[in-house]
Amino acid sequence: MNEKKIWLSSPHMGGGELKYVHEAFETNWVAPLGPNVEGFELDLEKYLGPEAHVAALSSGTGALHLALIQAGVKAGDEVICQSMTFSASANPIAYLGATPVFVDSETETWNMDPDLLEKAIEDRLAREHKPKAIIAVHLYGMPYQHDEIKRISEKFEIPVIEDAAEALGSTYKGKKCGTLGDFSVLSFNGNKIITTSGGGALISKRKETKEKTIFLATQARDAAAHYQHSEIGYNYRMSNVVAGIGRGQMEVLDNRVEARRANFEFYQKQLAGKEGIRFLNEPEGFMSNRWLTCILTDSFEQREEIRLRLAKQNIESRPLWKPMHLQPVFEKYPKYVNGTSEQLFDKGLCLPSGSDLTEQDLIRIIENL
Ligand SMILES: *Cc1c(COP(=O)(O)O)cnc(C)c1O
Repeated sequence: MNEKKIWLSSPHMGGGELKYVHEAFETNWVAPLGPNVEGFELDLEKYLGPEAHVAALSSGTGALHLALIQAGVKAGDEVICQSMTFSASANPIAYLGATPVFVDSETETWNMDPDLLEKAIEDRLAREHKPKAIIAVHLYGMPYQHDEIKRISEKFEIPVIEDAAEALGSTYKGKKCGTLGDFSVLSFNGNKIITTSGGGALISKRKETKEKTIFLATQARDAAAHYQHSEIGYNYRMSNVVAGIGRGQMEVLDNRVEARRANFEFYQKQLAGKEGIRFLNEPEGFMSNRWLTCILTDSFEQREEIRLRLAKQNIESRPLWKPMHLQPVFEKYPKYVNGTSEQLFDKGLCLPSGSDLTEQDLIRIIENL
């Protein structure tokens, strides 16, 4: 048990980060504004393409909150949310006093089931509650069924908030995740594919949305020399110090995607033909950054046996996200379920997937699987 701990997903610095952080100190831009924030936004815009307008924020959760506000969500409204996700996808709905309506997953991508989404919207409309937004998630980096979800969004005129917190570097039919929604959200939390230690971004195709996001994220100050406010504001802007980390991380993003995909391929190859272990394959046109490599076992007992065996060897692994409709805090809300996310939660396990895993680490993990 004295072997070094292998984590699920650790921060992995590229080496260029400190240069930008030093610059922030030397120029005394130790504030939630400054050249690194704008530089990081430009780096992301360059990466995501000419249509992307990026506002750097203090977290992905804050970005979801500001997306919901700009989608017009108010107290008493309903918002559809993928049930199989991390709680941060759903929490901002509650911040606004709105009601989450949870929709289950399909088995091809583990993300929102388009058929069930359509049924859910029709049922909400029959109850005279038109949902104000749809939060769809690219879980573990695997893109959701974008074409189908976009078709439904357009049919019912309900905007999509794309939660791409886990999917920077993934693509859908050649299009980058983080550019697929009416609003798109990224996270740079410590466990994500690149990190600023903590941070996020809200992306849209409209420059006005970026400006409005920055306005709301900096306390909604009206254009006046004195402090004047006509709207409620938030303190969600990214700081110039951590944006420096982000600039360094953008220099190595492609390497990080490559390394995470190589982890997946290693596990898949080594475990090929092992009974009771399945992987999530990429459907035609889907490219996952493989943020986390996940396996599906045959039963809860098998999953737990593997998890505990790894833990004993100081190797961290973790069950898949517990669906939101099963969470004590959310179970009272409406839900449209088909059993998929419950099965995934029962039998699924995330394996160590950091881009800094060594070959030795990987061999040690495989030996204990
Ligand atoms: C990490 C994550 C978030 C939240 O991002 P933070 O930057 O940690 O606030 C939202 N949604 C999903 C799916 C995530 O994995």
